[in-house]
Order: sequence, then C-alpha cells, then structure tokens
Amino acid sequence: MTTTIAFLGLGAIGTPMARHLAIPDFSLAVWNRTEAKTTAFVAAHATKAVRAASTPADAARGAAIVITCLPTSREVEALLDGPDGLLAGLARGTLFIDCTSGDPATSQRIAARLAEVGVGFIDAPVSGGVVGAEKGALTIMVGGDAALLERAMPVLRAMGEKIVHCGAVGAGDALKAVNNALLAVHIWSAAEGLLALSRAGVKPAVALDVINASSGRSNSSMNLFPERVLTRAFPRTFRLALLDKDVGIAAQVARDQKVPSPLIQLTAELFRAAHTALGDEADHVEAVKYLEQMTGDEIQ
Ligand code: NDP
Repeated sequence: MTTTIAFLGLGAIGTPMARHLAIPDFSLAVWNRTEAKTTAFVAAHATKAVRAASTPADAARGAAIVITCLPTSREVEALLDGPDGLLAGLARGTLFIDCTSGDPATSQRIAARLAEVGVGFIDAPVSGGVVGAEKGALTIMVGGDAALLERAMPVLRAMGEKIVHCGAVGAGDALKAVNNALLAVHIWSAAEGLLALSRAGVKPAVALDVINASSGRSNSSMNLFPERVLTRAFPRTFRLALLDKDVGIAAQVARDQKVPSPLIQLTAELFRAAHTALGDEADHVEAVKYLEQMTGDEIQ
C-alpha cells in the first residue's frame, strides 16, 4: 500500500528532499508559497504519483504524513491557521514531521496544538546541505516520541542516511542550532586566521594545506574555504540569513540553560551584523566577505 505524503516548502533544500519521496512507495502532494515552484516540481515528476496542492489545507487532506521545510518555526506555526491552513486539512492520526531548522520553544508549542487535534509531531531538522539532500544522504536529528519516529522512519530513510533520536520535542532543533553555531565559529575563525597569515606572508592555499593536515582542520577549512572562498565562487546553497537564525537559536538555547556561552553569543552578534550588511540572499560562506571588508584584504 502506498503512503500519502504532503510536502510543504520547495526551497533550496526542500526541493531535493521532496524528490526522494516521488517514488512508488508514496503518493505525494506538494505545496509551495510561490506556485511556480510547485508547478515546476509536478511537471518534472509527470509520470509519478505527484500532485500540486492549491493550499496547505489541500496538501494535508488525505495525507498520513505531512512534512514541512520552511525558513523558521514561525512560518511553520503561521501555516497552521486560517481557512486554507494545515489544521483545516489535517485528520486525527496524521504524523507531522517538521524538517525546518526550527526553535525548540515554537516546536513545543506547535506539538501541543497538534496534540489537541490528535496529530503527532516530531522536529526533524537536517544536515548535509543541498548536496546531501540530492544524494538522499542527510543526517536527520529527531525530537519527539520514539513511536512517532518509528512511524516516520520509511520516509526519513528515503531522504537521509543517519537518523538519530535526540530526545523530546525540540531536541532536534536544539542540536541542529548548536551544530550550526559550530559551523559559524569555524567559518569566522578560519577567515580571521587566514587574513592574519596572509598579511604575515603566508598564502591562504599554503596555510589551508598545512591546517588540513593538522589539528585545526574543520569542514570549513577542508571544503568550504578551498572550494568557495579561494576560488571566489561563493555558490548560493544555504543563505546567511538562515545561519544567522540558527546561531541566534543556539545562543537562546545556551541562555535558557544558563550555560556561560560568550563565544556563541558573540558569534550570534557577528552573524547578525554580517547578515544585515550583506542582505537576505547572501550565502552563509559570504560572511567571510564582511570580515574582508573590515580589513580591506581578500582571502585568495
Ligand atoms: P529557502 O530560503 O531556499 O526556501 C524557503 C522555503 O520556505 C521556500 O519554499 C519558501 O517559499 C518557503 N517560505 C518562506 N517564507 C514562507 C512563508 N511565510 N509561508 C510559506 N512558505 C514560506 O530555504 P532552504 O530550503 O535553504 O531552508 C529550509 C530550512 O532548511 C531552513 O530552516 C534551513 O535553515 C534548513 N536547512 C537548509 C540547508 C541548506 O543547505 N539550504 C541545510 C540544512 C538545513 P517561496 O518559494 O515562496 O519563497
């Protein structure tokens, strides 16, 4: 028997994730705020059981599983209400999987509202970027009831490789935010170090060659800087606005837990400033350009 799935949010990462659900196991309804993306997705899967939903309610109607992948938890929460909202289409017993990199408090509020109408909720943010999504090789970190995760497994396995139960609702969001705060720290600190080394007469390519065979290496030094900064390519795969949001969530989690966190708080401030300076469409790695503007030098 096929499972009916609704997928809402055909953005940079949502689109390649949803592609893995256009398979014979599933009957898929897709919805996106900008209708052209829904139309293009359905056209690209014309031979499959994929339909365009006209509203969130229409997408949810008849679905056993509803998946959202939106910028923040705020947009997910806003999609619940109104005559065309998800709650108008959700039936008791439906499972709601939120793949947004959300914030724990809002996810907990959404879970409580859905529980009132008999709908289970798990937060299931992802890591691995657009390339990982295209390969169906994402890491998926899940918060919520273990029995709900068990039900979600066939769908999550279609999109991800490593699927980990992290704790109660919000635990996936918290872990994802901290992971991305580490990413931000690595990008920023590598940029500072390479700019300083450059002025000291060490070429960035030489510095990265040594760092990547030494203890200071990270995904940023091994992949992002060689492929995106030194080449000056800066492809737009994950918006700086979203990383700014993620570091902000991590900073809030640390404050909520009363953990002294000067480094994460400072990183949140730096990425907020970089986002403001570079705009909503800049890629996350372009935060490096903000530091370059301060110094007047370029890492190349
Ligand atoms: P994008 O900005 O590319 O896409 C955002 C999606 O949300 C679009 O489909 C957009 O619709 C929709 N959207 C925006 N605002 C609203 C709204 N008010 N109501 C309804 N829909 C809305 O984001 P990504 O796909 O890159 O990211 C989605 C989530 O995944 C984020 O939480 C992000 O942090 C996370 N993530 C992203 C990764 C990446 O590499 N890109 C990696 C890991 C996690 P429209 O087309 O109309 O603009």
